[in-house]
Amino acid sequence: MAARIIPVEDFDLVIFGGTGDLARRKILPGLYRRFATGQMPPEARIIGAARGEMDAEGYRAFVRAALNEFLAPGDCAPADVARFLDRLDFQSVDARGEGGWDEMKPKLREGVVRAFYFSVSPSLFGDIAERLRTHGLAHRDSRIVVEKPFGHDLASAKALNAELAAHFAEDQIYRIDHYLGKETVQNLMAVRFGNILFEPLWNHQYIDNVQITVAETVGVGGRGSYYDHSGAMRDMVQNHIMQLLCLIAMEPPAKFDPDAVRDEKLKVIRALDPATREHTVRGQYAAGSDTPSYFDDVENDASETESFIAMQLSISNWRWKGTPFFIRTGKRMKARLSEIVITFQPTPHSIFDADAGGMPNQLVIRLQPNEGMDLRVTIKEPGPGGMRLIDVPLDMTFAERFGQEAAGSDAYERLIMDVIRGNQTLFMRGDEVEAAWAWTDPILKEWEEKHDRPIPYEPGSAGPDQSLALLHRSGRAWREIKA
Ligand code: NAD
Repeated sequence: MAARIIPVEDFDLVIFGGTGDLARRKILPGLYRRFATGQMPPEARIIGAARGEMDAEGYRAFVRAALNEFLAPGDCAPADVARFLDRLDFQSVDARGEGGWDEMKPKLREGVVRAFYFSVSPSLFGDIAERLRTHGLAHRDSRIVVEKPFGHDLASAKALNAELAAHFAEDQIYRIDHYLGKETVQNLMAVRFGNILFEPLWNHQYIDNVQITVAETVGVGGRGSYYDHSGAMRDMVQNHIMQLLCLIAMEPPAKFDPDAVRDEKLKVIRALDPATREHTVRGQYAAGSDTPSYFDDVENDASETESFIAMQLSISNWRWKGTPFFIRTGKRMKARLSEIVITFQPTPHSIFDADAGGMPNQLVIRLQPNEGMDLRVTIKEPGPGGMRLIDVPLDMTFAERFGQEAAGSDAYERLIMDVIRGNQTLFMRGDEVEAAWAWTDPILKEWEEKHDRPIPYEPGSAGPDQSLALLHRSGRAWREIKA
């Protein structure tokens, strides 16, 4: 079954930071793919905006090189690439100066959707927002897309929200979290709220525990100095993992409508019990036979920043009281894997022999690799061996079922199409971001005050052993990290 392509309205999209790494690797290749499939209308326009002199021709050459580098050769049909490049323009602009802004105006058309993507450092968000307004470039229905990190703590997130709110209304601001653009994440909502099967079981009576794992095999690499000021908690937990947790734990919204969904997510964050040091394990990767240690990567052997974190969280509301949520994320782990595992309770009474086998049902939602879901159910082992039970997956790997178009499109390109459609459901609202920081701040402060040192762990492992103990205490275990 092929995925259906529904074109979006005509638009002008200005990418501030249009010559940056994110634009090269994700935004422009993603837009090209939307163009080649017919979702981006042929008359839509993309205007790169960045510091430095470049003309439209130079920008087209720059984008052509990015497409060649980051797209599979089969994706770059020369005629499509030429038509796409024809849609591009460039405007040199300094976010902190006045040059270039008035020159941008004639490049924008009236009567089409107008969106501005802030793919620049958050320290420039306020300057750009202000100049868009003072130079008359933004209308009441123009949209802005802002990148992460959205704040370093609650105070800085509030300051950023205030800077944007001075020039744009909340319904114009799209705070991007690319995890929410993943096909499986959206499917999580479809599966929960589009079927009668799951929702009656979706609570502490039937769900024993929930696990969220985001494991990377890479270290901090060239981002060492940035990462050392951030760490796994700020880089992954406060945003991506928190968002996933909200989608699993939220109440059914009355409608699949941006504010209805975001209201429910916000309630989850507010119901989260405070994070405690007793239920947290922080780690730092040690050196491997041919890989540097975290200290070497960040060039700071007194660093107290974690490259791994595992936590047991609890949500104090009727639905979830008593069901632990275990989350973990780390660098230099044994495999690259992002998945959510919902483990249901065992059957209340087994009619089979104690040694027949079988295990509780699990719903495994894989974000990467091989986006998809499987529901593990117990069946009789086929054959004449008597009543022996095994668990088998009812598998839904998107690539096999719906073809590469559904599986292969990237989260960024889906989210940009949502911006053009004016749909904010998969973007974080300002109060959500602040609530997530309000939950994160106290534990970050405690680590800092107590000078907690993360525990070293072997590269290529599942993190420090203490993370396993976090679950063993209650007789549970992490699902193994394997790609
Ligand atoms: P980058 O340093 O590669 O590019 C920055 C861009 O901003 C360049 O185009 C530069 O010309 C432009 N710029 C810098 N100062 C400017 C100014 N004063 N006026 C106008 N333009 C200016 O950065 P990046 O890696 O592309 O990241 C951009 C944003 O996206 C950051 O907020 C980053 O945290 C976020 N982000 C990046 C990635 C990634 O994979 N690169 C992933 C997630 C989030």
